[in-house]
Amino acid sequence: MEKKYRIVTYGCQMNVHESEKLAGILHARGYAEAAPEEEADIVVFNTCCIRENAENHAYGNIGALKKVKKAHPGMLIAVGGCMTQQAGAAEKLRKKFPFVDIVFGTHNLEEFGALLDRKLGRKKAVVDVWEKEGEVREEDISFRTSYPNAWVNIMYGCNNFCSYCIVPYVRGRERSRAASAVVAEVNGLLDAGYKEITLLGQNVNSYGNDCGEVSFPQLLRKICARDEKFRLRFMTSNPKDFGEELVRTIADNPQLCRFVHLPVQAGSDRILRLMNRKYTAKEYLEKVEMLRRIIPDCQLSTDIMVGFPTETEEDFRATLDLVRAADFSAAFTFVYSRRSGTVAADMEGQIPEEVQKERIMRLVELVNAQTREKSQAYRGKTIEILCEDYDAKKGLYLGRDEYGRMGYFASGRDRIGQFVQMRVTDASGISLQGEISEG
Ligand code: SF4
Repeated sequence: MEKKYRIVTYGCQMNVHESEKLAGILHARGYAEAAPEEEADIVVFNTCCIRENAENHAYGNIGALKKVKKAHPGMLIAVGGCMTQQAGAAEKLRKKFPFVDIVFGTHNLEEFGALLDRKLGRKKAVVDVWEKEGEVREEDISFRTSYPNAWVNIMYGCNNFCSYCIVPYVRGRERSRAASAVVAEVNGLLDAGYKEITLLGQNVNSYGNDCGEVSFPQLLRKICARDEKFRLRFMTSNPKDFGEELVRTIADNPQLCRFVHLPVQAGSDRILRLMNRKYTAKEYLEKVEMLRRIIPDCQLSTDIMVGFPTETEEDFRATLDLVRAADFSAAFTFVYSRRSGTVAADMEGQIPEEVQKERIMRLVELVNAQTREKSQAYRGKTIEILCEDYDAKKGLYLGRDEYGRMGYFASGRDRIGQFVQMRVTDASGISLQGEISEG
């Protein structure tokens, strides 16, 4: 009988794509994904440690498997990703959950198949977390289930050491993939019919800095040289490295979505300095202005953090002012999460939880008002949607426009993977509803 796997993923898009790599490794060994009601022969937790609640969530879910494992001792449990890569975390995990069979880190995620083979040949747990990053692996081992969208890593790691962030400690220094390998992987996906490609890196703007081969705008132009309709996105851009050459590349290549995710984090220069972000609010807004001057229809999303150590009411108001000035079409808002091992964790002036809560509510209210206003502007317009899925509950197809806005529509035909023109009939919520011509 075919063996079944389940992968539980926490955290960001980078982790979602790495779970596709874990799935690829399992498929190559004859496993198939377990249906929700099916028992799995192996459960893999691909963890995240960027925020405390993601870590607690993972610990809770691993602990909940203790009973299941008792009833089915043959079931394997593997835990990997950012959480286990932290110093001392693998030992802590083994102590807390001795029933875990395999522990691995971010640096040896692609070696997971060898670890599984090792475990299958013995009773003892396999604990193998590499301290240092290994060679960049160029072959595409992913098992993708996200058609018509696909994610492609262009680089790994980060050199920026923002003072609140654990990523440089658990994902190592920046390593770029070879441009030829990235272009070949994208071409392979387009040949297979994928319609939207998102290039991934912690700071895509520094792509190539470590090997001096090809810059990020040059890489984009190489991909866009393919003369056919598809969408190309990228994330994430650190504003300090976001420059005019990149903006002109977006302007010149219709495949590049006119939508940029540019995490600002805060609007107070004092807080930005403490965060080690290396730009001021004014410099950020100048880049936004340059982007809108060159591409007037470009839209912008961001990440914002509130409650960073020592943040005063005045600092927080500066963030609200920046949100108003930048006029984001979407913003992901977070409360600062203290991560041990980072510089900010040891800063004086940690902000009480009730103050953080009050500030995040005010910020969310402002962001939601801006998003609703942006939605209203869609009413009556015809937009291009790339259809991604069918929502059986709603009986509607769904997809996104160039700016990432979700749109729902009815159709008598399977539309997944097609670009459709949708006339927006309802724009009252964050997502849109509309109708398409079936012709
Ligand atoms: S740029 Fe800053 S926030 Fe982003 S991954 Fe690197 S250190 Fe973390």
